[in-house]
Amino acid sequence: MFDRASVVTPGGVNSPVRAFRAVGGTPRFMVSGTGPYLTDADGREYVDLVCSWGPMILGHSHPEVIAAVQEAVSRGTSFGTPGEGEVALAEEIVARIEPVEQVRLVSSGTEATMSAIRLARGFTGRAKVVKFAGCYHGHVDALLAAAGSGVATFGLPDTPGVTGATAGDTVVLPYNDLDAVRAAFAAHPGEIACVITEASPGNMGVVPPADGFNAGLKELCAANGALYISDEVMTGFRTSKAGWYGVDGVRPDLMTFGKVMGGGFPAAAFGGRGDVMAHLAPAGPVYQAGTLSGNPVATAAGLAQLQLLDDAAYAKIDAVSAELRSLVGDALTKEGVAHTVSAASNMFSVFFTDEPVRDYDDAKKQDVFRFTAFFHAMLEQGVYLPPSAFESWFVSTAHDERAVERIAAALPAAARAAAEATA
Ligand code: PLP
Repeated sequence: MFDRASVVTPGGVNSPVRAFRAVGGTPRFMVSGTGPYLTDADGREYVDLVCSWGPMILGHSHPEVIAAVQEAVSRGTSFGTPGEGEVALAEEIVARIEPVEQVRLVSSGTEATMSAIRLARGFTGRAKVVKFAGCYHGHVDALLAAAGSGVATFGLPDTPGVTGATAGDTVVLPYNDLDAVRAAFAAHPGEIACVITEASPGNMGVVPPADGFNAGLKELCAANGALYISDEVMTGFRTSKAGWYGVDGVRPDLMTFGKVMGGGFPAAAFGGRGDVMAHLAPAGPVYQAGTLSGNPVATAAGLAQLQLLDDAAYAKIDAVSAELRSLVGDALTKEGVAHTVSAASNMFSVFFTDEPVRDYDDAKKQDVFRFTAFFHAMLEQGVYLPPSAFESWFVSTAHDERAVERIAAALPAAARAAAEATA
């Protein structure tokens, strides 16, 4: 299958990190998913710790989500008119996330961040955007500079195709460094439209904001007439009922969402302050649109998933995450492997270093070759980890005792492989 794919698709994949290039080997082609398990084209079953990079927070093929999708599909798949499903999903988002007064639905996280920065520029009449090294906000031209995720995985400094003019309006700063943000505002007075940050980064591995970092960003933005944009595409509806906002309570001007809110379908959103959102077409002059925005099948899936995510669901995900973190940490400690298990609520990842990781430069200092050995040993034993040392691991409500036992059984050999690996 990969050979066939490689003939007709660059690198054989439709999104770079899927290709296993960072870890070597042939990517597994999955044919079905049930609960915490994926089954590949050779009939092998894996415990899934990627969860489609975040969306599958109830596990695969959740019966109530599937039923909602089937019901929606039976009424037609796209109308290109307003529909009740998109209103219901927007109402659910607004009800959960207090700073979101209005929300616009789009089809991908990339579209959400791209549209949010356009709106911030249109609202403020300013051009410059501040972002942080190691944060990934999708493949928006202006936001690809020093990005995390696939850009981090492949060590790409920048990508060809982004013009100097576009990149020139992006100011890239080290993460968790408020002094750098202060200096940027001083160096570009009246020019910065917005600061965009992952609410709690998961694209350079999991690197949570230091105490007061997000609050400091908000304060500096307010003092300098810029908008504070919190990218919750990954953390939204995952790290708590109200995402990372539910954890740190710092009130953004604009927020972006994706992944969990689409229930495994292409649905994403941006929203926030009513006076800012009022600048969006057709209410205001900032243009933004989409043929499939608010698609009835995607919104039915997303709404069904969100409605199932109650306090008990989050308690379960948090507990599974805590258990896995301690199992992974214990296994690596037993083999004497230098590591840090880094968590933000129920998102976590393992850095193969015992030095503190506060930013992207720290994350890059880990022994990536140890992750590679660990990854393949886990894969061999039927545990599917993100194929990169710079990605969050994700769990779901479906990760039950049996799934955890299978992971626990695989860990000793994987920790040994990490210990024995050489650069
Ligand atoms: N923002 C964050 C924080 C993300 O993690 C991602 C994707 O991983 C995106 C934006 C882009 O979302 P999408 O892949 O749906 O375009």
